[in-house]
Amino acid sequence: MKTLKRIVAGILSTALLLGMTSCATTKQTEAPADAAAFTTIESGKLIMATNAFFPPYEFYEGEKIVGIDVEIASAVAEKLGLELVIEDVEFDSIIAGVQSGKYDIGCAGMTVTEDRLKSVNFSTPYATGIQSIIVAEDSEIKDIDALLGGDYKVGVQSGTTGDIYMTDDIGEDRIERFSKGNDAVLALTSGKIAAVVIDNEPAKAFVAANAGLKILDTPYTVEDYAMAINKDNVALKDAINQALKELTDDGTIAAIVNKYIPAEG
Ligand code: GLN
Repeated sequence: MKTLKRIVAGILSTALLLGMTSCATTKQTEAPADAAAFTTIESGKLIMATNAFFPPYEFYEGEKIVGIDVEIASAVAEKLGLELVIEDVEFDSIIAGVQSGKYDIGCAGMTVTEDRLKSVNFSTPYATGIQSIIVAEDSEIKDIDALLGGDYKVGVQSGTTGDIYMTDDIGEDRIERFSKGNDAVLALTSGKIAAVVIDNEPAKAFVAANAGLKILDTPYTVEDYAMAINKDNVALKDAINQALKELTDDGTIAAIVNKYIPAEG
């Protein structure tokens, strides 16, 4: 079954990438990232594209965009001697923008997929995501098989892995696309759709903020989050990976994740 294959693929890719990280460790410990070796779109700046409606990875606190991705990207930028500039854009425009040289990185709880790897490079993964299923508390949908097997309408955020994989599994006719995950959740609360498939951490935040919803125990997929980087800018990818490695080794990334997701830290 596709779902199980994806979960296994997620675990395997995490293992593979962790393996790759440790190879990179041996190779790169001698020298720190060489600031002269990479270029960015605007000198001295690291332009990050995100979609700031994805708590706790990126969300607005007043006028300010904060969250796990923002803090990890700013720690990376600082290591590289760059100023982080955040652009809040539609999620499904991020990969194209990185590919066309509009943004240096896409950092948006972005899942590494084979399809996206055709358009961009990805950094070393820095987090794991799970596609979760949100339903009404009294829903007759008890698990993923019931959801897939019925004729329920499912809400997704446009262009996300939840959208891509669900469309693949249940077909266009049963999919309702929303530009923001929260709008999908609102459609669920008003009974327009039967479920929302979305990443687990925003799912928890949306369920906490809206009465009468719950997350099913069975996950849909397990995925790796990483930063998308232009394929031609291999030097930037190497420098970012080196910075991520240092930030992992000294506990900075774990501390950032713990700050926003205390129970799982
Ligand atoms: N992890 C999902 C994806 O990459 C969703 C990310 C998001 O909505 N910001 O497609």
